[in-house]
This record gives sequence, C-alpha cells and structure tokens, in this order.
Amino acid sequence: MESIYRCENENAVEQSTGYEMVIGVEVHVQLATESKAFSPSRCCYGEEPNSATDPVVMGLPGALPVINYGAIRQTARAGLMLHCKIAKACSWDRKNYFYPDSPKNYQITQQEQPLCVGGYVEIELPGPSRNIMGIHRNVKLNRIHLEEDVGKLTHYSNYSLIDFNRAGTPLMEIVSEPDLYSADEVAAFLNAIRMSMESAGISHCNMEKGEMRCDVNVSIRPSGSKKLGMRAELKNLNSISGIQEAIKYEVSRQVQILQSGGTLYQETRRWNAQLSISESMRRKENAQDYCYFPEPDLMPVYLSKDIVDQWEKELPERTYDCQRRFMKQYGLPYTITSVLCFHLPLAIFFEKAVQFCGNARAIANLIVNDLLREISQIGRSTSDFPVSAESLAHLVRLVDDGAISKQASQDVLAEICKNGGDVTEVIKRLGHGQNQNSDALESICRQAIGTSEKAVAEFLSGKENAINAIKGKVMKISQGKADPKRIDCMLRSLLQQS
Ligand code: ADP
Ligand code: MG
Repeated sequence: MESIYRCENENAVEQSTGYEMVIGVEVHVQLATESKAFSPSRCCYGEEPNSATDPVVMGLPGALPVINYGAIRQTARAGLMLHCKIAKACSWDRKNYFYPDSPKNYQITQQEQPLCVGGYVEIELPGPSRNIMGIHRNVKLNRIHLEEDVGKLTHYSNYSLIDFNRAGTPLMEIVSEPDLYSADEVAAFLNAIRMSMESAGISHCNMEKGEMRCDVNVSIRPSGSKKLGMRAELKNLNSISGIQEAIKYEVSRQVQILQSGGTLYQETRRWNAQLSISESMRRKENAQDYCYFPEPDLMPVYLSKDIVDQWEKELPERTYDCQRRFMKQYGLPYTITSVLCFHLPLAIFFEKAVQFCGNARAIANLIVNDLLREISQIGRSTSDFPVSAESLAHLVRLVDDGAISKQASQDVLAEICKNGGDVTEVIKRLGHGQNQNSDALESICRQAIGTSEKAVAEFLSGKENAINAIKGKVMKISQGKADPKRIDCMLRSLLQQS
C-alpha cells in the first residue's frame, strides 16, 4: 500500500538529477449550499453581476455575520469522507488585507481552530496495465477549514470590473501535508477529492467554474533525503493538466538553479499558461502580514458527538471501497467498476437493478456499454436516467430466459431512452417479440435450410462448423432479431429430422 509510484519521465528526472520532488497542495472547494457562509443571499454562478449580495457580503457598517449551519455540516461531512478528526470546537479568525475583491477588508477564516484535523485521501495510480487495479496509497492531510470566498475581478486595459456574487460563498480549504511525490500523484489526489465531494453532494468541484482551485507548493530535495527543501507556492492553477505541467516546469527550474550553484528562496509564483512558465510574484520576506485575530462577531461552534456520528452514518460509501466491494461481491472486472463506482448515481442504479435480476455482470455491461452511450446521445446527465432500474433488469431477464436476443435488448433499451415506453410495449413496437413465436422462427429456419443445400450436406456428413452458414442466413432473414441460442436449437432439431 505504501509504495510510491512515479510516472516514467519523472523517474527519469529523479535518476538523472539526483533530486526528488515533494509537493503539498491547498485545495479550495466551494460548497454547494443554497446561501452564503455568513449571510442569507444565495450562492450562484453566471448570474447578473452583483445581484446576489447583502449588507454582510458588502461589509456595510453594523452588518453582522450569522453562521450557515449547512456550511458547517457540509465541511464536517467532507472531513468525515476524508478520514479527518472533527474538532469538538472550532472558532473563527479575521485575515486582514486590503484588496478590492473584499469590501470588508478582511476574510473570515479558521486559522487557529479548524473544523477538521488530520485525515487522508486514498489515491490510485495506474499500475502496469489499464485493465487491473492500480497502486493505492493514502496521502496525509493536515486540516480542512471553512472560510468565505471573495468577489471576482475582471481586468481590462485601463479599468477593472468587480462582481460580488461570489463573495461570501462558503469555501473549504483542504490542506495536504507535503506528502505528494509526482505530478501524477497530485492529479490522482485532486481526482479522488473531486469524486468524494461529488458523491457526498458537498460540491461539484467543477474547475472551469472555479468550484475547485488549488495552490500547489513544490520543493525538491536530494533523493532519499528526509529534510524538506525550500518551497515555491504556485498560484492561479485552474486545470489538472495545467497543474501537472506547472509542477514539471517548476521542478526542472529548481533543479537547474541548484545544479548551477544557485539558491532557492521561499516564494509565491504565478503560472503563466500562455507561456508555460512560472513567474515570481513575491518572496517570503515580502509576504503579507495578515494580522490574524479572533473574529469578535462570531461565537465558536461546538459539535456534539451525536450529531457528528449521525452525519457519519449518513455518508455514501467511499469510491474505492465501493469498487473493491463490487469486484468481490459481484465478480465484476476492474474496468467496469471504474465506470460504475466513480459516479455514485450509477453505482446506486446498478445495485437497484441487481435486486430485480441477479445477473450482475449482464446488468453492469448493459449500463456501462449501452445505457451510458444512449444517455450521452440524448444529452441527459448521468444522474437522470431515462429508464428505470426495474426495466433494465427486466430486459436482462428476458435475454437470460431466451425470450429476446441480446441485440434486441440493446435496441429496446435505446428505443426506451429515446422515445420512452415500457419494455413489453417497446418489444412489440420494434417487432422483437415475434421471436417468442416458435412458428415464426421455425419458418425462417426452414427457409434458411432450404436455400443452404451445400451447408446442410456438409453438416449432416459431420462438419459441425457448417451450421454457422445456416445460422447466418437465419440472422439475415430475421434482420438480427432472432436469438442465437434459440436458432441453434431449432436448426439442430430441424436438421436431425431431415
Ligand atoms: P502557508 O499558509 O504559508 O501557505 P502552510 O504551512 O499552511 O503555509 O503550508 C501550506 C502548504 O504547503 C501545505 O499544503 C504544506 O503541505 C505545503 N508545504 C509546506 N512545506 C513544503 C515543502 N517544503 N515542500 C512542499 N510543500 C510544502
Ligand atoms: Mg499557502
């Protein structure tokens, strides 16, 4: 479990330079709450600028913040999903700075007593083959705290616009220990967090919408050393591939400096995605002093053990736990579970269908190979199923009973997704039901035998494979609707009679 995977070229960097990278990430995640962290205006995205504000958000004199219980609950649930200890008491601090994105001139955060402490994120790195489970490892977390987001500035040539709709949106900060050792590990870490938050309904973590944003701290040290090197903090990263690119660039920049006898300084750097380089913003000695002090307008929050236990009980199963269970309990292959379990609504839908029909493998295949394609074709989301779990199970049962062919079940599923209807009625509508009528199948088989003189003679003289040519004809005449198992049976019995 503890082995560390590094992608090939990063291994090469390490071997050729004698340095290894160490990374710690601060992940900001917006909570999907209805209203803001400390005031009643609604959380929204892409709406008329400055339409979702209130006196607290705008920092008007005399306005007082009130804690959003939902934001506390969601942050604690995030902590529980990621194995953190939930603090019995957490408190609030003011982080003071002057910048136009914050009209109060401070941000309410949790510097001294965060809500969630410690914890870890289970990550998966690709193993030797795509078809088998990769290498799993737990990345240590330092803490998760709750704070408020700031407004959004848009800069133009000689002026800037401010939108305060985002200001006050509850924002969690998930802080890792310096416990990541490659760009691929960071990508796996962010993906694992996104899956956890999404499955528990805490956040959608859509990076394009800024619902998940990261500061990535990168340092290098001689391979095998235990001491941490001097870190650079990369800000302004808004895509996983951008983060991977930025880490690789930053590591090679630091290696070059040390190899040429230079010195690294603790600094904050900005990733310039256009030029694919990192640029210095400020050095540690010029770092801002935020003059943190306890927020006088908010009381600490105390959570009883009962309520935390209750929240823990209501959590969904964690992604990789679900995947291990599905592989063991249903004998499903890794690749199928990687689709089913990485999106909780699919896993729930699958298990519901299995309750109606025990053929888990066939149900999983129909969902992963057919249902998902139909859903994407009709442009629905994968949590809004155009067919019920019961109907899907019904289709699988009909195939198992030999009443319809597998191909027919796929056609019927596609038709239900596109135009609705129930299984029995759609089978009739598409004419697949005729195969249930043995007379119809018998007459098609007779027709095929009658026009396959050579194959019939060969089969009767002991050439087993010759039957395939006749089956092919039956398929052609029935336009692919006949069930191969039943054709085989019917042909053999007719040929024996002849
Ligand atoms: P700050 O608030 O100044 O950014 P923190 O101590 O809270 O400082 O650390 C922030 C992040 O930096 C954490 O995710 C931590 O793991 C990471 N970090 C600290 N030291 C190093 C280092 N030497 N190399 C890589 N990451 C580091
Ligand atoms: Mg930081």
